[in-house]
Parts: sequence; C-alpha cells; structure tokens
Amino acid sequence: MRTQVGIIGAGPAGLLLAHLLHRAGIDSVILEQKSRPYIEGRIRAGLLEQGSVETLTEAGLGERLHREGLVHDGLELRCDDMAERIDLHGLTGRRVTIYGQQEAVKDMVAARLATGRPLHFEVEDTQLHDIATDQPRITWTDQHGERHELRCDVIAGCDGFHGPSRAAMPAEVLRVYERVYPFAWLGILAEASPVSHELIYARHEEGFALATMRSARLSRLYLQCAPDEDLNEWPDARIWEHLHRRLGRVNEGPILQKGVTAMRSFVAEPMRHGRLFLAGDAAHIVPPTGAKGMNLAVADVRVLAAALADFYRGRGTGLMDRYSEICLRRIWKVQRFSWWMTAMLHRFSAEDAFEHRVQTAELHYVMQSQAMRTALAEQYVGLPYEV
Ligand SMILES: Cc1cc2nc3c(=O)[nH]c(=O)nc-3n(C[C@H](O)[C@H](O)[C@H](O)COP(=O)(O)OP(=O)(O)OC[C@H]3O[C@@H](n4cnc5c(N)ncnc54)[C@H](O)[C@@H]3O)c2cc1C
Repeated sequence: MRTQVGIIGAGPAGLLLAHLLHRAGIDSVILEQKSRPYIEGRIRAGLLEQGSVETLTEAGLGERLHREGLVHDGLELRCDDMAERIDLHGLTGRRVTIYGQQEAVKDMVAARLATGRPLHFEVEDTQLHDIATDQPRITWTDQHGERHELRCDVIAGCDGFHGPSRAAMPAEVLRVYERVYPFAWLGILAEASPVSHELIYARHEEGFALATMRSARLSRLYLQCAPDEDLNEWPDARIWEHLHRRLGRVNEGPILQKGVTAMRSFVAEPMRHGRLFLAGDAAHIVPPTGAKGMNLAVADVRVLAAALADFYRGRGTGLMDRYSEICLRRIWKVQRFSWWMTAMLHRFSAEDAFEHRVQTAELHYVMQSQAMRTALAEQYVGLPYEV
C-alpha cells in the first residue's frame, strides 16, 4: 500500500490533519488503534479558542459546532469570599466556544469517511520504519490478524502521549522537559444544567474546583484530588458534597461518567526527525487548567498542513524544516500559561504558609488588576498564529 502522508492516530490532531490535506489535494491514510465508537465517545477536552473555531470553520467542519457550541464571553475566578468575572470579549475582542472534543471528533470522522479516503480502525502493533529516509514505512496488524505495510513520503505521528511515534525517534535526538504535579483532577460528567452560563474556576482551602459544561443540559465538574485517588472512595454523594463546598451551589443530576486525570507538563523536542513529524499530545502535554490540549493540537496541525502543502506544490521544504521551531514557540508560551494557572489555583500539599499567602495574593492581584486580567484573557482566548 502507498500514500503520500501516513497518519498514526485518529484524535483531533490526526483527523484534522487528514482533512486539511484532503482539501489541499494530498492523499493520506489514517491508522487508529481504537474502534470508531470508542473514539467518538471518549470524553476529554471541551473548550475551543476562537482560532480553533475559525480553523475548523474554514476547513468546512464548523456546521454543527456553530449550531450546538456554546459561545462564552467571559469566565469567573473565585478565591475565598471574592469573585471576579474576567470579561474575555471586552478585554480582547475574542471569545471561546464550548464544544466537546468527542463531538469535534465525530464531525471529523464523518467528514473523513465522506471523502472516501482510508481510515483504518482497530489496528494493532503499529510500527514505524526508515523514518530518517525519504521513504518511511508503517506496518500494522488488522482486526483479522493480517499484517500490512504502508509506504509513504511523510509520517505524521498524531498518536497521543502513549503512541509509538515519539518512541521511534532516536533517543540521542530527543530532549524531554517534564513536570509532574502532586495532584490530579477528579472529573464528572453529569446530566444537570450548568450552574452558570460561564466557567467558574475556584481556589478553595480544600483544593481547586472547576465548573464547566458540555451543553445546556450536561455539566462537566472537576475537583482537585490526589494523583492516586481511588474512585471507589468517591461515591456520588461525596463528590456533590465537595463540589457544593468548593463552588457554592451546583445543580445535581445523574453522574454519567467519572474519572481521574493526571496533571503533567511535558514537551519533547524537536518535533521532527527525518520524515517523521509529531503533532498534538504525541509531542506535548499541558495540565488542563488552561484548557489548551486540543487547541495546541489544532495549532500544530495548521503548521504541518501548510508545510506539507508547500512541499507537494513544489515550494520546497522551508516550512517543513521550520515546523518544530514554529510550533515550539507557541507550545512554550502555552506551557507557561497552563503552568501559571495551575500553580495559582491549586493547593500544593507541601506548601508552607508563606507560599500559600503569596499564591493567594497573586490570585487577588489578577482579580483586581486590569493589566493582569487582560494578560490572562489574551492567553485564554488563544494567542495569534504565526502561520
Ligand atoms: C484522559 C484525558 C483527559 C483529558 N481531559 C482534558 C480536559 O478535561 N480538558 C482539556 O483541555 N484537555 C483534556 N485532555 C487533553 C486533550 O484531550 C488532548 O490534548 C487532545 O486529545 C490531543 O489530541 P491528539 O489528537 O493530539 O491526541 P489524542 O486525542 O490522544 O489522539 C491520539 C490517537 O492516537 C491513537 N493511538 C495511540 N496509539 C496508537 C497506535 N499504536 N496506533 C494507532 N493509533 C494509536 C489513540 O487511540 C488516539 O485516538 C485530556 C486528555 C486525556 C488523555
């Protein structure tokens, strides 16, 4: 089998890349280890920067997003007895949109299938070969146990944090920067109307809490918890009790999904080796406090799609050669923002009284200073794209 771009992973990064390439007349094959129902039901991120919305819209993927997405002009910060609305739109002229990642994935899978181009689900034992040459290959085993080989010009490693692409890069080439936080998020999806139209970020003496939503009838709520938290110790009643304490009253309803999300900052550099390009979570992870994971995947893919379009139109490899450098400039700014939001809003178990007071003073300063609110807002709605 042969194609121009072999894409490993059908998350937001792989699916969007395939779609942008298709629109540029470039052929690709997507290989995904999970089933279609699994990836379309996987509850993860849900906040899109305005630039991500514009990217999906320009790519013809925005029809349902504009119909069902919830546009937000602001968010609320709470600390002790203080509450302050950050007027995102008033401060930046830009907005964010709530649209579940799984909904964006459904739209992109449907768009891919409509093109008739290949998307193989439930592949196993995916391996990358000859990535340093201009004829790299991917091999895998299908659901029936049959082994296949895909020859391509370029491999896009869009296979998330645990996929094989980053691991295929030579260890001596790869530099890894990492921070693991001493807490995690216990997240629930509940059939309950959101308590507020906008997101509420709360710093409470028992720990951070976040009230967000996936639709007018679905609330997504998070509590700071221990990284090794045992969900069996969190019956529904205990979760609601903590949410009420940390967020004030929230609307209760049946809990449809419960999970613990680890908090990590991670960057692998460079994002390209030979003809292998990493995009999205395969190259970087941010703690979810800044709501940036899916948005960074979109930003990487914009650059990669443009670079590959240049390459196939005979405009050379200039943008391909600068792919890693361009993406990393944005990634590190977003890493800094996500780390800052996380450090400001969470309780660190080992923190001393001095640290706690400095942290509280910082949050109060952000709430009271127009300059700080503007800095938060312009990063939250998304920094401008370079390409
Ligand atoms: C558990 C979890 C919860 C999250 N929650 C939030 C949140 O609440 N808020 C937020 O802002 N962000 C959240 N994120 C981050 C956000 O969802 C990610 O940043 C986003 O999914 C990145 O998209 P991606 O396409 O790069 O990677 P992914 O969405 O991870 O997609 C990678 C794909 O590659 C596939 N794959 C892996 N290995 C192979 C293989 N060997 N062969 C073929 N395919 C393979 C995977 O099955 C997957 O479909 C969460 C992430 C995770 C993992």
